[in-house]
Amino acid sequence: MYKLLSIVIMSLLLVGCSLFSKDTQEALPVNSSETETITAIAKMINNKGESVGDIKLTQTTAGVEMLAILSNLPPGPHAIHIHEVGKCEQPKFESAGGHFNPHSKEHGYLNPKGMHAGDLPNLEIEDSGSIEVQFVTNNISLEKGEEHSLLDGDGSSIVIHANADDYKTDPSGNSGDRIACGVIE
Ligand code: ZN
Repeated sequence: MYKLLSIVIMSLLLVGCSLFSKDTQEALPVNSSETETITAIAKMINNKGESVGDIKLTQTTAGVEMLAILSNLPPGPHAIHIHEVGKCEQPKFESAGGHFNPHSKEHGYLNPKGMHAGDLPNLEIEDSGSIEVQFVTNNISLEKGEEHSLLDGDGSSIVIHANADDYKTDPSGNSGDRIACGVIE
């Protein structure tokens, strides 16, 4: 069973429609100057270097849409964040640095001094070790040159942690070890 928030489904439908109409228009020479959709992917690996799935990112007018299709992970709630360096060195992934935080805030949306642009809602991994979930965040961008662009000089990565994010404890929501990492490329 896939857990999808209704708002996510709505945005999916909207995006689906706009992509469809855009594709149709691109067949016409009049709209040939229209810009291409910017996409990126993070291929996630665990501490042993084994694949645990992919997270696809797409720039939309509502923000960056992230589609995570993951497996082979420990069941239960796990923090997931965008980290500031595009480097995933095994086994601990410390190379990914801290949370993506271009505005120098503290961690967590429940923190009065928060939040990091790279903060995301916890993943609820199913008993099977899998999850398929989609969310949209407008705190980040895939457009190069933007202040909150993930595709900056040293890149960015996505990290999954051993524990849930409490959404308030600086700097990482008490989320524990880094159990999976993927460079956004
Ligand atoms: Zn954070």
